[in-house]
Amino acid sequence: MQSITLDLKDEQDTVNLGRQLSALITPPLIIYLSGDLGAGKTTFSRGLIQSLGHEGAVKSPTYALVEPYELNGIDVFHFDLYRLYDPEELEFMGIRDYFTTRSLCIVEWPDRGHGLLPQADIQINIKYVDTGRQVELKAISPKGEQILVSLDN
Ligand code: ADP
Ligand code: MG
Repeated sequence: MQSITLDLKDEQDTVNLGRQLSALITPPLIIYLSGDLGAGKTTFSRGLIQSLGHEGAVKSPTYALVEPYELNGIDVFHFDLYRLYDPEELEFMGIRDYFTTRSLCIVEWPDRGHGLLPQADIQINIKYVDTGRQVELKAISPKGEQILVSLDN
């Protein structure tokens, strides 16, 4: 499967990657975002969500676990599972109901929900490199593959 590695020299580069990806996205789609605290997962999500039409701030949904948006007919769910200590909490919140044919789900810290989340279409991993970041985008599904092929062109 397709994999792309990019250097992101500053915050704007991270936002722009989210923007670029937003142009290629149709639901249903699941994106996993991994990387240390402060790597840029929420920054990337902000670029994506604002580019899909959201005009306000994109806050980290850390305390609520999920922040919902409805943008031009797409249900966008931005998860941050950093504070999920027991994956069973996902059962209690009815996690499956978020992953519909109309939804785009962006999941920070997907490892915390291991076993209870549907498989991603695209896995994104952001690493600190010097003062910037390096990002690897990996396609997991054929749909994710199509998107990364378009992104690469
Ligand atoms: P996370 O959600 O992964 O914990 P955030 O997106 O909340 O991280 O924070 C990332 C921090 O790193 C912000 O302060 C942002 O300005 C900065 N940042 C984002 N992308 C880059 C980059 N490519 N190079 C340097 N700094 C970046
Ligand atoms: Mg975050």
